[in-house]
Amino acid sequence: MVWPCPLPVDAYVAAGRAVEFPRPACPACRAPMVLWAGYWRHVRAAGRCRKIFVPRLRCGCCRVSHALLPAFVLAWRLDVAETVGAVIAQVAGGRCGVRPAAERAGVPYTTARGWVRRFSVRAGGLGTAFAALAVELGGEPASAAADPRGFALAAIGAAFGAAAGLPGWLAVGCWRFASAVSGGRLIAANTGSPYLIVGTRRFMPPVPP
Ligand SMILES: [Zn+2]
Repeated sequence: MVWPCPLPVDAYVAAGRAVEFPRPACPACRAPMVLWAGYWRHVRAAGRCRKIFVPRLRCGCCRVSHALLPAFVLAWRLDVAETVGAVIAQVAGGRCGVRPAAERAGVPYTTARGWVRRFSVRAGGLGTAFAALAVELGGEPASAAADPRGFALAAIGAAFGAAAGLPGWLAVGCWRFASAVSGGRLIAANTGSPYLIVGTRRFMPPVPP
């Protein structure tokens, strides 16, 4: 599970185990969940590797536990969503090739190439899902472009533009928003997410007040 954390990475890191996070309902049965445990993992932001605490919540009813990732994290990726998103936006948006984008982001070329490849593979589905979300939120429909990657980028931008009109989301930012609504699986091979949005069903994780 991913929550729409608006905290700067530095602030999240500094809080350690004491970091404040919401207690979402169980995605399976909607019962309340309680803090169960947690683990430490690395993230890389602005070229620096940091350790963050990821709480694990457990459902009091079905007893399944779920890790609660802050939205600046993507599942199974070291680099934060903003870094990954910036590279994808530059390359998939046709502004530059992978190598200069990787250099600007301070990540290895092969890492950046992997992100762009995953995004390209998933572009059609992402474009459709985010365009549907944009419409659900009363935003502009993104029109399907000839290039699926351009369509996906436009749809993510349109959905975030619409979400930014709702309380809390503007501060979360576009790529954390994309991580939050895709359950951290924006560029993952396994796309199952409790929040992914298709058709008239909209699942956005609640923003803490
Ligand atoms: Zn449950």
